[in-house]
Amino acid sequence: MDEGKPAYKRVLLKLSGEALLGELPYGIDFKRALAISREIKQVHELGVDVAIMIGGGNIFRGSRGVAEGMDRVAADHIGLLSTVINGLALQDALEKEGINTRLISALEIRAVAEPFIRRRVLRHLEKRRVIIFTAGLGSPYFTTDTAAVLRALEIKAEVILKATKVDGVYSADPMVEAGATRFDSIKFLEVIQQELKVMDSTAITLCKDNNLPIIIFNLNVPGNIKKAVLGEKVGTRVS
Ligand code: UDP
Repeated sequence: MDEGKPAYKRVLLKLSGEALLGELPYGIDFKRALAISREIKQVHELGVDVAIMIGGGNIFRGSRGVAEGMDRVAADHIGLLSTVINGLALQDALEKEGINTRLISALEIRAVAEPFIRRRVLRHLEKRRVIIFTAGLGSPYFTTDTAAVLRALEIKAEVILKATKVDGVYSADPMVEAGATRFDSIKFLEVIQQELKVMDSTAITLCKDNNLPIIIFNLNVPGNIKKAVLGEKVGTRVS
């Protein structure tokens, strides 16, 4: 590996909605969105194509609505729309940092976002625009993790960068078990068999079946996205 040279030509960055929370209990901290955008810019400037799948958990998760008695499909539609709200904030932040972007929504909302047309998205990437995917797959019963994997495959991203609030994948919950250890790397099958919390099972299976690696790392450590793209040791690599 050459130092300072990216290990990938095209990546899919999965940002959970919580990434935009900052210090807030709910909603969007725009300063946080700007800080993340600056990190994305560093990676983009290396010549790497970047597509982002944004979640919605900082605003609404379908499971929360269901727990309160809501119909699953209605709750998931609300969750999906919350990802579009986040996407709009992230788009604005990225553009404030001077990056050209395109917002894509899997639900048709033409006034604010483009529909997903694969060849058009590929063209945007060729033209060095950062893609922000919102509304997951546009269907209930899925998560934005699964959507991230499917879109990564469709646009031929070489890796999924899953930015989280933890340092990687642990043998057990480090908050609960003092002896929990972090894996530097782990195989898909081990993640599935040990039911380790990496992504939901649909997402992880789709990665395994298509040999698409995932790097899970802490977004709250500045410079981590770039480290992952440069192929430096960060978080846990699942492959
Ligand atoms: N969602 C959905 N279909 C999808 C993606 C998301 O129905 O393809 C809904 C689901 O209700 C989910 C919510 O959108 O809870 C927000 O997405 P997610 O929980 O994946 O966001 P994150 O945890 O990444 O912030």
